[in-house]
Amino acid sequence: MRISSLRNCTRHRPIELIASVVFLLLSVVILHGCGAKGYQSFHGETMGTYFRVVGNCSPTVTQELLESELDNLTAVLSTYEPDSAVSNFNRTLEIGEWVLVDEVLADVIAIAQRVSAQTNGAFDITVAPLVELWGFGLSEVTERPPPELIAGAMKRVNYELLEIDEATKLVRKQSDIQLDLSGIGKGYGVDHIAKVLEQHDCSDFLVDIGGEIRVLGRNDANQPWRIGIEAPDESGKVQAYVQLSVGAIATSGSYRNYRIFDTVLYPHVIDPRSGFPTSHNLLAVTVYHATTAEADALATALFVMGFDEALEFAETHDTAIVLTTWDSETEEKRVKYSTAMDLLMKSRN
Ligand code: FAD
Repeated sequence: MRISSLRNCTRHRPIELIASVVFLLLSVVILHGCGAKGYQSFHGETMGTYFRVVGNCSPTVTQELLESELDNLTAVLSTYEPDSAVSNFNRTLEIGEWVLVDEVLADVIAIAQRVSAQTNGAFDITVAPLVELWGFGLSEVTERPPPELIAGAMKRVNYELLEIDEATKLVRKQSDIQLDLSGIGKGYGVDHIAKVLEQHDCSDFLVDIGGEIRVLGRNDANQPWRIGIEAPDESGKVQAYVQLSVGAIATSGSYRNYRIFDTVLYPHVIDPRSGFPTSHNLLAVTVYHATTAEADALATALFVMGFDEALEFAETHDTAIVLTTWDSETEEKRVKYSTAMDLLMKSRN
């Protein structure tokens, strides 16, 4: 199943959306045979991309329910919506004061801050000013930002300038920081839908938002879910499969979202420690984790780190990852699995 081939396909491109949904339906048919009794499938748009849910669920799970859950999440987490809880928080000038935030926003901030600490700031939701400066936010940017603007933005980027008290949902800015939740929001959305499905007695399901995926149980052929890890290019080819009955898979890459200034390509994942978009031979990182929010955030962090640091992180933290690099000498892609990913791919979990 070429799950990740549909990543971010809907953004501002309705024709591609239709093509993607058709492909998506075909993928589901291929995977699930003739649609055995009990399994339903749902799909639609959310968070600037697609969602799909396949599951053995009670009839109380409906398209309307899923859409309304996702709409409610987007109304909190989207920096693309001016009235969302995160946009309001970004506008607040109450620096140094504890502010009560929405429960979901507090939850996402808490997870993000844990991943930031674990990855020494490679993942950092305060990266928003840099995202905007390099043209991956709301404003259009046509030239490479000058060093003084990057240096200025860097003063407002550091996850340690953001504090959260998880018990009270109080959050404090220590400077005029702004949050960008794009590196974790889709993953969090997948976990949220998974929770909703479990509340509705779904014993087996696959939830996918823009390529970030979580599964439980088995597919309608009574097999573990088979997740394809797509090659990081436009070929749509699957370079590896994992069979899972629990857990989440997320990918970050440089191959679909980038800007070109003066013939140099700048990917959308930014190193918050340097202020520059990542610049290395890594094309994509795929991470397996218990939750999709953490898999999503870790994939971004490991992409920032680059091949050597990411592999070392995976080996010391027993994390299952796939690293795809570009070898400019042979002009070929190379794929490396961490030890934990090697084991995962051999198992039928
Ligand atoms: P990932 O690697 O998962 O994340 C990369 C993104 O995270 C970057 O684009 C940047 O925004 C941010 N980032 C960069 N560097 C770092 C870092 N070091 N640490 C942390 N974060 C970093 N897009 C639209 O076009 N229209 C929409 O209406 C829209 N609505 C959205 C609503 C929500 C709630 C969310 C969460 C996202 C929305 N998006 C929207 C964004 C779109 O889905 C993003 O492109 C996507 O979330 C990025 O995912 P990815 O898998 O491509 O990259």
